[in-house]
Amino acid sequence: MQESTLIICYIIASVTFILGLKLLSHPATARRGNLIAAAGMILAVAATIFLYKDENGNALHNYSWIFSGIAIGGIIGILVALKVKMTAMPELVSFFNGMGGACAALISIVEYNHLVHHAADGTLPGGELLIILLGLIIGTVSFTGSMIAWGKLNGSIKNFDFKGQHILNLLLMLIIICTAGWLIYHSGLSGSENANHSLLPFYIILVLSVVYGVFFVLPIGGADMPVVISLLNSFTGIAAACGGFLYDNKAMLTGGILVGAAGTLLTILMCKAMNRSLLNVLIGSFGGDVHSQTSDQQHGTYKEISVSDAAMVMNYSKKIFIVPGYGLAVAQAQHVCHELEKLLTERGVDLKYAIHPVAGRMPGHMNVLLAEANVNYELLVEMEQANQEFADTDVVLVLGANDVVNPAANTDPASPIYGMPVLNVELAKTVIVNKRSMKPGYAGIENTLFFQPKTSMLFGDAKKVLQDLIAEIKSL
Ligand code: NDP
Repeated sequence: MQESTLIICYIIASVTFILGLKLLSHPATARRGNLIAAAGMILAVAATIFLYKDENGNALHNYSWIFSGIAIGGIIGILVALKVKMTAMPELVSFFNGMGGACAALISIVEYNHLVHHAADGTLPGGELLIILLGLIIGTVSFTGSMIAWGKLNGSIKNFDFKGQHILNLLLMLIIICTAGWLIYHSGLSGSENANHSLLPFYIILVLSVVYGVFFVLPIGGADMPVVISLLNSFTGIAAACGGFLYDNKAMLTGGILVGAAGTLLTILMCKAMNRSLLNVLIGSFGGDVHSQTSDQQHGTYKEISVSDAAMVMNYSKKIFIVPGYGLAVAQAQHVCHELEKLLTERGVDLKYAIHPVAGRMPGHMNVLLAEANVNYELLVEMEQANQEFADTDVVLVLGANDVVNPAANTDPASPIYGMPVLNVELAKTVIVNKRSMKPGYAGIENTLFFQPKTSMLFGDAKKVLQDLIAEIKSL
């Protein structure tokens, strides 16, 4: 009875995960989706704690450990989530993803030791061992890789590579696979040796996976980070699914598979958005060395526009596109931006947002940011569509975006971002770029858009500039 109740709880939890994921695919329903999936997860965890019984019919007893862990983790999680700035969200997501990987790896370590100590005649079941090793390798790589990505996104870790790094990575991977294969073969030989002997190769695999995760993400830089982040996300999902297999836990299995599948699909979409193959991302170090370029290098001259002139031009335009970028998130200017949009729309301007898939610092960053300000989702136009519409657009207002509007991606084969699809805002009649200085964006490269005759620079913090623009337009 208790067991069937537990299974029903897991099935309900699995359904909430699927439903949650579906609702997450639209900004208007994303919050609800998140809450539904979270409720399902609480149900699954509570059901496991109170209803689970092992094969001997023993229920969980170490409640003080379990609830201490939940309390400590829960309090830290709540505090971090409450305090985190919106611009630091991508780092936090990377960090949480790493924690998921670490959990999966810890499950493998615990279960391996359990297996070894309970091996009747020194033999270990090959199937179980395979799942344990997969969870260990994928979870560890996801943990260390995500920690490096976390450091890169917050600027504390710089890109690092050396000649032959990719060969070393391949070699590491090969050694890991061979050691795992040897361990599975050796552990299956009945009673041959003491099963404890298998501990050394197991921990060798663990250490090599730690190193591999670090070397795997360190050289990947610049514009390729979105792809790596979603790839690591899928790794954590797969590692968690391994845990689900091990414990025959349906909710964990479904959750892991959903995260793994969603992460894989996102990786494919991100690769498409960057016009890159996954192999290229992993061994190409695309944009990896550009961070070291000096930020002062400038070619040509640029012209500035005052807030009042910009307000005038925009007020008398028929069609305007706003291109939001990372700077809009830094300035937390999404609400003021929405105010400007409403004001201009009231005055008869056809105003829409052009969304680049990798604008900001995490997949979907701009959609989330604008949804937070209650911007109508219908006004968000995807890159391909926007590129078709720029030619008959009067003004493009670039708000804290840089790499995603860099024409060098189309025109300069020597540019590290050459080939990445960008928003071709230079096709519009007038381009107004708001940022604080002439410094480059994430990829660390100069933007030729700023020096084109159609472009005017509107310097200042996005929030302040937008507030001033609103005041000026209201006075017209
Ligand atoms: P960029 O990082 O290219 O440029 C952002 C610009 O915003 C900067 O040039 C900065 O200029 C300006 N800025 C910063 N703060 C403010 C402010 N308060 N007010 C006004 N402007 C400000 O951003 P994009 O969105 O154009 O491109 C995203 C980049 O990040 C791409 O290279 C992408 O590959 C990468 N990336 C994306 C991820 C994703 O998943 N979306 C993940 C990781 C990386 P200044 O300092 O002069 O103000």
